[in-house]
Amino acid sequence: MEIKKPESMDECIYFTNRAIGDGYAMAWAYRKECPKCKKPTLGKPLNKRGKVDKKAPYYECKICKYKENNEQVEKDLKLEVQYKCPYCSFESETTTEYKRKTFEGFPSYVFECGKCSKKIGITKKLKGKKAGFEK
Ligand SMILES: [Zn+2]
Ligand SMILES: [Zn+2]
Repeated sequence: MEIKKPESMDECIYFTNRAIGDGYAMAWAYRKECPKCKKPTLGKPLNKRGKVDKKAPYYECKICKYKENNEQVEKDLKLEVQYKCPYCSFESETTTEYKRKTFEGFPSYVFECGKCSKKIGITKKLKGKKAGFEK
């Protein structure tokens, strides 16, 4: 399976690159295609201050303003991950659901190392809290 690294942040609705213990994970999810424009343009709408409204219950096409609710969009998205396993140092790539699960007490995207099969969590960044990786 090959995954393609995004060329620009604008192609993604989510992108992160972080150290996880002695490993790392770079992960992203591409925008879903608008069924009308046939382009990957669906993203969270902008609020009145022109910032992305992450809490909006829907996604919107940035060209034609077509809307789809969160569940409908997110079930079709996947998270692509390029990683180095913090447990066994295996380097590889994988894909996982674009859905956060509770992992070690934190909402996280979870994937499995292709070598040692340990679960690795990409924790949601929480203010004032450290990422949920502990040895
Ligand atoms: Zn559109
Ligand atoms: Zn591993």
